Amino acid sequence: ETIGENLERTAARFPDREALVDVAAGRRWTYAEFDAAVDELALGLLAGGVAKGDRVGIWAPNCAEWVLTQYATAKIGAILVNVNPAYRSHELDYVVRQSGMRLLISAVAHKGSDYRAMLAGIGFEPVVFVGEPGWDELVEAGRRADPAALRDRAAALAFDDPINIQYTSGTTGFPKGATLSHHNILNNGYSVAQGLGYTEADRVCLPVPLYHCFGMVMGNLAATSHGACVVLPSPGFDPEAALRAVQQERCTSLYGVPTMFIAELAVAAEYDLSSLRTGIMAGSPCPVEVMKRVVGEMHMSEVAICYGMTETSPVSTMTGRDDGLERRTGTVGRVVPHLEVKIVDPDTGRPVRRGEPGELCTRGYSVMLGYWQEPDKTAEAVDAARWMHTGDLATMDAEGYVNIVGRIKDMVIRGGENVYPREIEEYLYTHPDIADVQVIGVPDAKYGEELMAWIVMRPGAEPLTAEAVREFCAGRLAHYKIPRYVHPVEGFPMTVTGKIRKVEMRDMAVDLLG
Ligand code: ATP
Ligand code: MG
Repeated sequence: ETIGENLERTAARFPDREALVDVAAGRRWTYAEFDAAVDELALGLLAGGVAKGDRVGIWAPNCAEWVLTQYATAKIGAILVNVNPAYRSHELDYVVRQSGMRLLISAVAHKGSDYRAMLAGIGFEPVVFVGEPGWDELVEAGRRADPAALRDRAAALAFDDPINIQYTSGTTGFPKGATLSHHNILNNGYSVAQGLGYTEADRVCLPVPLYHCFGMVMGNLAATSHGACVVLPSPGFDPEAALRAVQQERCTSLYGVPTMFIAELAVAAEYDLSSLRTGIMAGSPCPVEVMKRVVGEMHMSEVAICYGMTETSPVSTMTGRDDGLERRTGTVGRVVPHLEVKIVDPDTGRPVRRGEPGELCTRGYSVMLGYWQEPDKTAEAVDAARWMHTGDLATMDAEGYVNIVGRIKDMVIRGGENVYPREIEEYLYTHPDIADVQVIGVPDAKYGEELMAWIVMRPGAEPLTAEAVREFCAGRLAHYKIPRYVHPVEGFPMTVTGKIRKVEMRDMAVDLLG
């Protein structure tokens, strides 16, 4: 099945239920209206000569037009290229050229940056700006076109055609263009919805970026495959806007990376969140303390943790609805249906014993077609037997529950001992004055690497000294896991998907230590 066929099926089953609400724009669509709007835009793109396999970019903050573009491009078999809203001209230039973009749908300005000027700067002209006459003309052309053109195109599509290039977050280096098919992402969205128990009664609040698989697959495709409604609270992340949307729209589900939930927890008491039932916390390590508060203070008793990566559509493991809090805080759940997961010794490639750390590998329908025009990088990541090597270190217990211990690249080797920063972060989170913490390795002449904790204090708390932190760890963590340095901060360098860029922290730390 293609994404277009799946949407038509949902629209036929639930024509009068709401499909999409853009809170900031004050607009809403039922499934019948949404399906019709998608068709108009798809026909408009066809009328403009967009061929199957052409790359159509979208560079805009979260908005209804983003969602319409996602489905319209899938319907005509164009390859949607998600462009990160935080990109500046250098990165924009890279993805426009690397993907061989034919057309870009954009917004004029976002957070004070002028997209029009940047596009002019790189000399890319085929751009349609949302909210400007160009967009209206596109839709108008679609309205006038013969719907037969869309039926003909649909007949020429296959479930395993590439329809999406998603650049990875760039947490560990330059982003790579994961190329995904209908089959890859539609099944993954469906699987997430099944895991969360979605029905047409669910309303899913998405403060997470649409340009990332978290929003467009785990959010949009999960919702539309089950007749649930997508609620977009604001163009960029705003904790108050997200909770206000939950309250006003009676949302049943709320997504976020851990840092978003941390910001929401600070204001959660001011909103009526009683409609919430579930949601997803994912994208980076989910601290146990944060999870406990989300369950307790945000009415999200069924919240799930998911683990995955752009290259795997994205979700590989998730916690179940009837997993207890222990499982839901201490693990990233079990492999989702129809996929395989194994933990191997990164040196030998052989599976490790249960409970021992190794590289997590995954295989099945979710594995990307490849990195766009980078066969060498694809071959490094996906082996001949189609296993995706994730670069993440994990353990698996006897019942198949997976725990992510960190990225291979983030592991610290101090005096010959392997240290997983995650374990130390988890312990430091239990300190009552600590709001957020990240631990990195910094170069050290004696031990090779030493540990440094970057700490964000709770409002009103005095910054902790290195001595106070070490005292808090003494007797609780092995001596080689106790941070030598403590750096008080207001926040961390982040990717726009809300991931902490430890690479950048390590560079900054080297400067700090002079
Ligand atoms: P790049 O590959 O460009 O360096 P990235 O890996 O951060 O960036 P994504 O594909 O957005 O790009 O993120 C996938 C990664 O996020 C995973 O490989 C894993 O390291 C991390 N991750 C995702 N979910 C979780 C989770 N629940 N717990 C811990 N880590 C997670
Ligand atoms: Mg990655």
